[in-house]
Amino acid sequence: MEKLLLSHTGYEVKEARILRTSRLTEKDKLFELSLIGGEILDFEPGQFVEVSLLGVGEAPISICSSPTRRQSFELCVRAVGRLTTALHRLEAGDVVGIRGPFGVGFPITRLIGHDLLLIAGGIGLAPLRSLINYVMDNRRDFGRVHVLFGCKDPQNLLFRDEIELWQRRMDVGFQCTVDRADPDWKGNVGMVTALIPGVDINPEETFAVMVGPPVMYRFVIAELLKKGIPEDQIVLSLERHMKCGLGKCGHCQIHDIYCCQDGPVFFYERIKDLKGAI
Ligand SMILES: Cc1cc2nc3c(=O)[nH]c(=O)nc-3n(C[C@H](O)[C@H](O)[C@H](O)COP(=O)(O)OP(=O)(O)OC[C@H]3O[C@@H](n4cnc5c(N)ncnc54)[C@H](O)[C@@H]3O)c2cc1C
Repeated sequence: MEKLLLSHTGYEVKEARILRTSRLTEKDKLFELSLIGGEILDFEPGQFVEVSLLGVGEAPISICSSPTRRQSFELCVRAVGRLTTALHRLEAGDVVGIRGPFGVGFPITRLIGHDLLLIAGGIGLAPLRSLINYVMDNRRDFGRVHVLFGCKDPQNLLFRDEIELWQRRMDVGFQCTVDRADPDWKGNVGMVTALIPGVDINPEETFAVMVGPPVMYRFVIAELLKKGIPEDQIVLSLERHMKCGLGKCGHCQIHDIYCCQDGPVFFYERIKDLKGAI
């Protein structure tokens, strides 16, 4: 009975085993996991889980795989502090705690049937990758698809192998840019915002979805509005310090919304007038 109650409240910690790890960059590591006991994690692109290690802590991490590939799920973790550094020390066979999934993901039902402009900055590609691969796996449900990805430098490029696959697809326009190139870099140089004016879109038909650092949003949104994309067709994922994931602790509260439960994905229209939201 207690177990049943806990699972309904979101406090229950499930154990997940690491099936595989791969290093994406010096600071980013990809973990493939599955819940112990064979249960499939039921999630939507854009949702996150609370990942824990006993005696270390717990942190929200976005699920970066697509629910269309369901046998396992993936998390891309950037080592920035106590828990994330401890996670980086783990390898296949090790076990972590998982609560969730939590939050409101990308509004897939609203996106279906429309053109998409998907924009990621830095580690924002991790949550967006879940949506990108969902779209790839259900390609006929969507119109024209453009993906723009900006990152600091070539050393920080995430998911290189997948980027090559996306670049080769004829039914997706994929462009990547770095703020600072190195001698081997042959691609675009500059902020991701600089790519937006050159993308050929029909603004009335297009939903723009972006995930990146807060500083990126204001500039990207300005470009999207200049392109004529309506405010109610701009979607973004907000990152806030959060602990419980359940709308209780209040760490992620922005005025009348809890980022963990009402978000992390929001329509721009909903949050544009909330001071401090973006
Ligand atoms: C909805 C959501 C999804 C996220 N998805 C990912 C993801 O896919 N991959 C990933 O690597 N990270 C993700 N993060 C950020 C991740 O939660 C933090 O990096 C993590 O909590 C840091 O924990 P720590 O114990 O390692 O760091 P700490 O030792 O607690 O702190 C180290 C540094 O990280 C900062 N920090 C701590 N907690 C957060 C937080 N919740 N948000 C932002 N900065 C924080 C601190 O201010 C400090 O500068 C996400 C955060 C949110 C809210």
